[in-house]
Order: sequence, then C-alpha cells, then structure tokens
Amino acid sequence: MKSDDVDRGIEFIDLQAQRRRLGRKVDDAIAQVLGHGRFILGPEVSQFENELGEFVGAQHVVGCANGTDAIVLALQALGIGRGDAVVVPSFTFCATAEAVAIVGATPVFAEISLDTFNLDPASCSAAFSVAEGLGLHARAVIAVDLFGLSADHRALGQIATDRGAWLVDDAAQAIGAQTPWGRVGSLAAIATTSFFPAKPLGCYGDGGAVLTQDAEIAARLRSLRVHGKGTNKYDNVVVGQNSRLDTVQAAVLLEKLSIFEDEIERRQVVAGRYGDALGEYVVTPSVPDGFTSTWAQYTVLTDPKRRDEIALRLRQNGVPTAIYYPKPLHQQTAYRDYPRVADLARSEEASQRALSLPMHPYLGESVQQEVIDAVVEAVTS
Ligand SMILES: *Cc1c(COP(=O)(O)O)cnc(C)c1O
Repeated sequence: MKSDDVDRGIEFIDLQAQRRRLGRKVDDAIAQVLGHGRFILGPEVSQFENELGEFVGAQHVVGCANGTDAIVLALQALGIGRGDAVVVPSFTFCATAEAVAIVGATPVFAEISLDTFNLDPASCSAAFSVAEGLGLHARAVIAVDLFGLSADHRALGQIATDRGAWLVDDAAQAIGAQTPWGRVGSLAAIATTSFFPAKPLGCYGDGGAVLTQDAEIAARLRSLRVHGKGTNKYDNVVVGQNSRLDTVQAAVLLEKLSIFEDEIERRQVVAGRYGDALGEYVVTPSVPDGFTSTWAQYTVLTDPKRRDEIALRLRQNGVPTAIYYPKPLHQQTAYRDYPRVADLARSEEASQRALSLPMHPYLGESVQQEVIDAVVEAVTS
C-alpha cells in the first residue's frame, strides 16, 4: 500500500485511486482541448455522446451542464409545464422534483419499495389518480434508479402507457446498469444522467446528458440546450436555456468511459463481499435476478433507533458513512405543500434507517474487511 493511501484513511469514494489508474491520459486529453480551443461543443462532446450512446444502447445522447438541467431539458422537450403533473418518488435526491417545479409543473409524490428503494408501481398508479383528482394533467412519471439499481421499467412503463403519459428515467446514479431489457439509459422514452464527480460515471466538475431513442426529441433537446435555437443561436424558436457539456469535461469523460465497464465489474465484487459479510447484522440491498447495480451507493438498513449512533461509532473508528437521504421530499420545506399519495411510510422509514457505506471500484479487500469489522462491532456493541 502506498503511503498516501495510509495518510488519507478509508475513503467513502476514492476518486484519487481512479486518477492514478488513468495517469497521464486525462492530462493529455485536457491538453488536447486547450490546444484546439473549441471549449463549447467541441469535437470531444459529440465523440463522447456517440460513445456513451453505444455503451448503453441509446440512439441519441445530448450532453448538458448537469443532471438537474438534464431533467429540465427532458421535461421541456416533452412540452411539460404549467397545469401538468409529474409523478416522482418521495425518496430521491431533490433534483428529481425540483426539475418538475422549475418547468412550472406539479410534482406528485409516490411511495417506494423498501427492498429496492425504487418507485412502487401500485403507488405510482395511485399518484396518477391523485393528480387527476386535483384536475391536473399527469403527463409523466419520473422513475429514479436509486443507488444504481434500475427501477421496474416494465411495470412503470405499462402504467405510463395506460395513462397516456411519458416514462422519464432519472438515471443519474445508474447509467449503464444492466436490466433484463437492456442497459439503463436505453429503457425509457427519455433518460437523464449526471456526471457530478461522485456519480459512478463522473467528470471533474458538473456535467449531464439526456438520452433518447427518438430523433425528433433529440433535435428538440439540441435546440433547447442552446437557447432554443432554430437555424442558429440568433434564431430563437422556443424558450430554451444555456446548458452544454463543457468540451474539457467531455474529454475527461471519454477516458473514464473507457474503464467504466471494468469499474462496474469491480463494484460487483465489493458489493458481493459486503453482502456475504453483513447480511446477518443489517438489511443489505438486494438485486433482482437479471439486474446489476452500478452501486452508486451501498446502502444498508439499520435499526432506526441506533442509526446515528452506529454512524458516529464508525466515524470514530475511521470509517466514513453517509445518509442518503435524511428526509423524504414530501417532508422538505420546499416540497411539503405539493400533492402526494396518502401513504409514504416507507419513504419515511428509509430516511430513518438508511446508512451508506464506503463504495468505489478500488476498495481493496483488506480495507473493506476493516469496514466490515467496524460495522459488525458498531451494530453488535
Ligand atoms: C445527482 C442526481 C441528480 C442531479 O445531478 P446534478 O448533476 O448534481 O445536477 C438528479 N437526480 C438524482 C437521482 C441524482 O442522484
């Protein structure tokens, strides 16, 4: 083990290990961009869009400034706005609901399943009825593939189709994850992702993308990200925004994409070891047959009365943890007045019991054993 590994202790997500693996390749890729000087929508952006599309099986990929903008752009491309409702899970990162509110539509909160942390199809149906009861036109449901595991796209897609609505996939944590129907990013009419540094596929700053199989939607997205341009930027045909993926970030992402498949495999090994060792002490996450998670987070469920104490004990023993998410959205000040299904008890329970452990592709066996020992000690003490 190198001395700098020792000095830093156990990392929650170790971006420096990936940096060491990529070595000069990233420096060279950035230098290339500095040389050609096409910083906005330069050649690396379209190259990355093509390669990501090939990787996940999406026809069209449109890079943008971040994962939140990606959802806003997706909703704009579908013409969703004032008077419309969009069903979202309550247990997710705030951006999922925030994007809906930004376009002037109403988020309607639905419940999750505790075994996958993803939208519960029955509750999703109920949320459509809640929207209808309020006289809102429910135009879409946003499935979130939380912690890296795909939501049940088949069931949710069927509900959306029956209601004449779109299925949008917020794949910020799960782009590239496997499902029986293909990789996440290729499943919904529109999928969005984030390249925030800590995501499984992250850049060195902010970045995002929208993915679709539909050429017409893709054309709208390319217009929307450049101020709703028509034939050029000074011909404005719709109200859009300024949201592009920087060329420098695309250059970084091309290097990271080249090792992404291998990193996803390494994450399976880490998750497998946690599952084997911790299953009798906490509720470990389950992955349904035919799926692989990208393990954006490895989140266990603890005794709700002891969660914070366990986290503190782990920190004292040098093991960093995180709580995703400490409050479901229907209880957040900014979102508590929006409509919701009656029963969100599981979202509330998840926020009280969830504890995420260190997870990254370079978590070696001996360091992981330290984490496992510390968790067992904290839970049984
Ligand atoms: C990170 C994240 C986003 C937002 O991405 P940003 O790039 O930070 O804007 C949206 N949804 C989910 C589920 C996320 O995890």
